[in-house]
Amino acid sequence: MIPLTKIIATLGPATSSEQQISALIKAGVSVFRLNFSHGTYEDHLKRIKIIRELAKNNKSHYTVLADMQGPKLRVGRFQNGSINLKKGQVFVLDANKETGNEKRVQLPHPEIFKVLKPKMKLLLDDGKIVLEVQKVTRCQITTKVLVGGTLSDHKGVNVPDVILPISALTQKDKKDLKFALDAQADWICLSFIQKASDIQTARRLIGNKALILAKIEKPAAVQNIAEIVSAADAVMVARGDLGVECPIASVPGLQRKIIAACRLAGKPVVVATQMLESMIKSPVPTRAEVSDIATAVCEGADAIMLSAETATGKNPVQAVQTMREVILQTQSDPDYHQYLSALRLPLDGTIACAITSSMRRMIQSLEHPACIATYSVSGKTTLRVARERALVPILGMTISEKTANQMGLIWGVVPVLTKTVKHIGEVAPLAIEHAQKKHLIKRKEQMIITAGYPFGHQGSTNILHIVDID
Ligand code: PEP
Repeated sequence: MIPLTKIIATLGPATSSEQQISALIKAGVSVFRLNFSHGTYEDHLKRIKIIRELAKNNKSHYTVLADMQGPKLRVGRFQNGSINLKKGQVFVLDANKETGNEKRVQLPHPEIFKVLKPKMKLLLDDGKIVLEVQKVTRCQITTKVLVGGTLSDHKGVNVPDVILPISALTQKDKKDLKFALDAQADWICLSFIQKASDIQTARRLIGNKALILAKIEKPAAVQNIAEIVSAADAVMVARGDLGVECPIASVPGLQRKIIAACRLAGKPVVVATQMLESMIKSPVPTRAEVSDIATAVCEGADAIMLSAETATGKNPVQAVQTMREVILQTQSDPDYHQYLSALRLPLDGTIACAITSSMRRMIQSLEHPACIATYSVSGKTTLRVARERALVPILGMTISEKTANQMGLIWGVVPVLTKTVKHIGEVAPLAIEHAQKKHLIKRKEQMIITAGYPFGHQGSTNILHIVDID
């Protein structure tokens, strides 16, 4: 069995060579994240070329996800590189470009001064330092240090208490976006979005060149989750910043709710950050990390993500292998089906819904169900099938290379590029041939095929065919 929950690996200095990326693929990665907060265009382009080359050699499709930095707020620089803030002291953030000291530092984001109010909290360096706003003028924020510590150059600033009047795409993001689209990234990841219009703005620039994955990492995004899920093509539970901006104890509950909202809407959902954090240094994971992966799998996430574990860690391949083993072990649990079915998908009266929900029942009643095959130009039928979490892999046949590359993120989908099909009778032989090549089916097993006929019309899933392999 293949892992039905997909593995995303962030590439970085530890995973830049063809040999390293190839080892990640062998270990189980199907999606590669390029993090535009780090690295040069040259680095990213080199990695994309390697991924595409390996895909060609392996006759497979790997997904490239370009993660925009977004409007991450940062303090300026200090005279000596860092300062030590003590609890109870006064500290000023201002518009002055001069290097900072123990009393003040630049906050180069003028729009923030307008929305802050006394008593609001500023969280610095991933929440390690907490400041409380006392007084705000047009170019100066006077704060009291509630939790002190060492603050160094360019550390991040989180402002959880307000909707910030900033666009989700900075000037840097617009430049990075153009680069990523020219380099044919399959998905664009938007950071620090707060509302659906942030996605709509980005979509006007992206068009149909890539799909949009919205990172949920701000309280405003949590509040607006329904409209964001509806506007985006996929969503990520970005637990790093989410755990800074929201109470950390609320993150598991938010993860569960966001996954459920996405599964109901039939949008792919990713769980990210610190999944195997200890493996950045250690060759073995903690028990808690293994349990965290199993939880995301049982909640029905489409994909789970490794960040520093694969980008800069000492054990990138072992981290992917560990993730794969935990996914395989979890999905072989006899109760896996029950965990996934805990979320009841409502029937909406459409033919597509009748077909895909029946397909799920059929898988349960067949003796040796091996896989489902879909034939879909846009990938919509495949996505609709994946929504059912029917416990078997999905052979995602498509004539579009872009769709094939994008589908790697979706639960259970093995994308294959295929020829154009005109007659209904051509689908089954084609599906059998591809499924056998991908080792998804063997003799005496059954495959369910679904597609929309006449072929080539989007969103018209209307055929269901069971094939028995003799
Ligand atoms: C996160 O905050 O969890 C996340 C995935 O975003 P980044 O790694 O870009 O901070």
